[in-house]
Amino acid sequence: MTDTTLAPTYVVRTLGCQMNVHDSEHMAGLLEGAGYTAAEPDAETADVVVINTCAVRENAATRLYGNLGQLASKKAARPGMQIAVGGCLAQKDRGEILDKAPWVDVVFGTHNIDVLPVLLERARHNAQAQVEIEESLKVFPSTLPSKRDAIASGWVSISVGCNNTCTFCIVPSLRGKERDRRPGEILAEVEALVAQGAVEVTLLGQNVNSYGVEFGDRGAFAKLLRACGQIEGLERVRFTSPHPAAFTDDVIEAMAETPNVMPSLHMPLQSGSDRVLRAMRRSYRSERFLGIIDRVRAAMPDAAITTDIIVGFPGETEEDFQETLRVVEAARFTSAFTFQYSPRPGTPAYELEPLPKAVVQERFERLIALQDRITLEDSERFAGRTVELLVLDGHGRKDDASARMSGRETGNRLVHFSVPAGDGADGGGAPRPGDIVTVDVTKVAPYHLIADSALEGGTYAVRRTRAGDTWDAVQRGEHSHGDGDSCGTGPSTPAGPVGLGMPGLRRVDA
Ligand code: SF4
Repeated sequence: MTDTTLAPTYVVRTLGCQMNVHDSEHMAGLLEGAGYTAAEPDAETADVVVINTCAVRENAATRLYGNLGQLASKKAARPGMQIAVGGCLAQKDRGEILDKAPWVDVVFGTHNIDVLPVLLERARHNAQAQVEIEESLKVFPSTLPSKRDAIASGWVSISVGCNNTCTFCIVPSLRGKERDRRPGEILAEVEALVAQGAVEVTLLGQNVNSYGVEFGDRGAFAKLLRACGQIEGLERVRFTSPHPAAFTDDVIEAMAETPNVMPSLHMPLQSGSDRVLRAMRRSYRSERFLGIIDRVRAAMPDAAITTDIIVGFPGETEEDFQETLRVVEAARFTSAFTFQYSPRPGTPAYELEPLPKAVVQERFERLIALQDRITLEDSERFAGRTVELLVLDGHGRKDDASARMSGRETGNRLVHFSVPAGDGADGGGAPRPGDIVTVDVTKVAPYHLIADSALEGGTYAVRRTRAGDTWDAVQRGEHSHGDGDSCGTGPSTPAGPVGLGMPGLRRVDA
């Protein structure tokens, strides 16, 4: 350690998807429970650096070893510094990580996050690197301490793992079969988050629609949404991601009939071609997908529907791609995370002949152009409408001249809004992150909306929330959030669109 009179410091770097971000919160909570304190996010001087890796993206390994290469020289200059590598790539590559980067102290997997502090201690004590990977989940991550990054919003896992076998996806082999938490446990965690100031919760699972199958209740997810509707103080409930094959109408009914469940749905399409879906081993077909969307829109006309699409899966023909364009045109997604297919070692599709890069790139650009047009048309529907926003932190003023702040409307669309003169950050009357603001949309752009109604004599109302009060208290140093002994003061960032890990080179989102 650099200074033995102070608590050792740590930093957790997250590569990858929302599931990893959530796991990182647990890693931070565990370290704080073991007496570590958070270093500044970009601290060069942290005593422990944990890298939570991703095995899904093509460049994940390059990023990991790039990070580790930089850390090698820091560690050489600072004896006692420790480096731990966890997450999906650690689960997959195990001891190989030490072969390539022998200066790493600890390698741990996705199933045993809880052992991180013990492994660090053991590595220090024995002066020897520790590698510990479990084949299956021993402790459900959500039962571990957590240090949350946000005040107003929290993530709650309802399940981990996946029972599907999509041929491009490495998640099942790294995260294992689906394991469902009991509803009582989930609701208790949601209530605890609300008690700590959260007003928005996102339920997380690789396939939320199959939630409950493990304990024999196929209607469990819809019931869970309705139960969230009963939690006082919980203003916004979201979830990600549903699988189109398992999507049932009781979920649509629960969404439409539970006021705090937001009209937004992230449902991965992956391809519009039934032939490609079959090759991907995804068991729905495009007409089923569009049927779900029709029923969601019939129940919630303004629902924001977002998706993931892979372009250039091996064997995709121009005709298949035209099918994807057809479905995208018909589905009218609010936005899409678009990926160029990249083969992942360890997945069935890895053996297949990839398409020429130029073909994939050209299709990708056509898809983006189409989605950009549809996204703009979706935004245009909001011109002049009054919207209710949950104020974001970390986005602050959009620009100094207009003193705009940012929030997300109920469908999760990003809105930059003006506050009245004198109410801006300098005037002291600005809404706090986590407060609810009502404004009129005065201008639209493809991936955000502008609401200058406060300056133009239109609607402007602020509802101060407990999340805002908590944010104030944290700024004054009076309040902590998270559980265990942790005391986070990180930014409050209500949920934007998220993914749970898909292959790809680039994504486009709001
Ligand atoms: S893509 Fe999603 S549904 Fe398919 S195997 Fe991966 S995690 Fe499961």
